[in-house]
Amino acid sequence: MTKINVKKFGGTSVGSFERIEAVADAIARAHHEGERQVLVLSAMAGETNRLYAMAANIDPVASARELDMLVTAGEQVSIALMAMALERRGIKARSLLGSQVKIRTNNQFGRASIELVETNGLIGLLDAGVVPVIAGFQGVDGEGNITTLGRGGSDTTAVAVAAALNAAECQIFTDVCGVFTTDPNIDPNAQKLDSISFEAMYEMARQGAKVLHPDSVACARRHGVVLRVLSSFEPGSGTLIRFDEPDHTVSGIVGIAVSRGQGLVSVSGVVDNPPAEVALFKTLADACVDTDLVAQQPSERMLSFSLAQAEVNKVLALIDTLTGAHALGAVNYETELAKVSLISTGKPVMAELAARVTELLAAQNIRVRLVSTAEIKLSVMIDEKDLQQAVRSLHRAFNLNKV
Ligand code: ASP
Ligand code: MG
Repeated sequence: MTKINVKKFGGTSVGSFERIEAVADAIARAHHEGERQVLVLSAMAGETNRLYAMAANIDPVASARELDMLVTAGEQVSIALMAMALERRGIKARSLLGSQVKIRTNNQFGRASIELVETNGLIGLLDAGVVPVIAGFQGVDGEGNITTLGRGGSDTTAVAVAAALNAAECQIFTDVCGVFTTDPNIDPNAQKLDSISFEAMYEMARQGAKVLHPDSVACARRHGVVLRVLSSFEPGSGTLIRFDEPDHTVSGIVGIAVSRGQGLVSVSGVVDNPPAEVALFKTLADACVDTDLVAQQPSERMLSFSLAQAEVNKVLALIDTLTGAHALGAVNYETELAKVSLISTGKPVMAELAARVTELLAAQNIRVRLVSTAEIKLSVMIDEKDLQQAVRSLHRAFNLNKV
């Protein structure tokens, strides 16, 4: 039996009628060549943002359940239009919401996890020569509520569907021709990688590379799904995410991931004050705030942590609720920061890497606010205005430039 390919198309790939027609042409061609395809689509570009903004007009703190109900509408539009475009080409197609496929998730609205993808219906359609066109980003919980997987979650839908169907490949079609050593919009010397290991890809995605959602990479690794990132705009074999060998690079660095719009909050009086420290982290956790890099400055008993800039105001308000009970000291914050992360092959001596990176940045008067290391990555927090200069100089220094 012919192998199945799951093909996911992101927002820009279905962002206009022309784009939907172009994708439908490509799917029709492959269909006539005998390929068995399952499509997973995002909403048309900008649509999900528009829907979130609508909600904010009615209630800026609307309930997560109703938000999910609202924002899943974007994918309902794109899948129906795509199915129509395929049918006009004489191809049988069926658009399906997450609840119709039965993509079962837990009930964490806004950031649900997929628990199960029912495959009987999909296999029945494929056997009848029908192309299933599935809404990404959404599922249904045990009580029939509509859920979403979090922003960018369509990648995860595609991988979960590919895993359930035991697909040959899960192909993520996007507006760039693969995974790059860094964001080509920041550094035109960025190179497209023909392949990258799962470990490095996961870390790149976690540290801000937007081509793939980190959950989708983790899910692919767990289920042994072959993942490939390709362009829906131009031909090419894209980037294959490899299971087997490690990455080969000259400098030991595979790529540089970038995350803009970061903030830094510092609270004094917390270090060596366990009840305050516990209360702080518990409050942040209860409010689902993701802290990233954390540093302590014992001299001022100060604890600093980075987070998305958009969360800063909420966090300041939360800290305010703790100050009375826990005798916290001054609270400071900064915004317009950016995180630059170097992803390595293997496990370098992080102190050496940190020395090299900080020296390089210092030589250019780029101030480093925080350094953090983990097994295969080193991150530095810098001012957003220094981002381009920092990335370009690191990219060159670590031999990642195009030759
Ligand atoms: N449409 C959703 C979003 O914009 C999901 C996705 O595109 O992956 O976040
Ligand atoms: Mg995406």
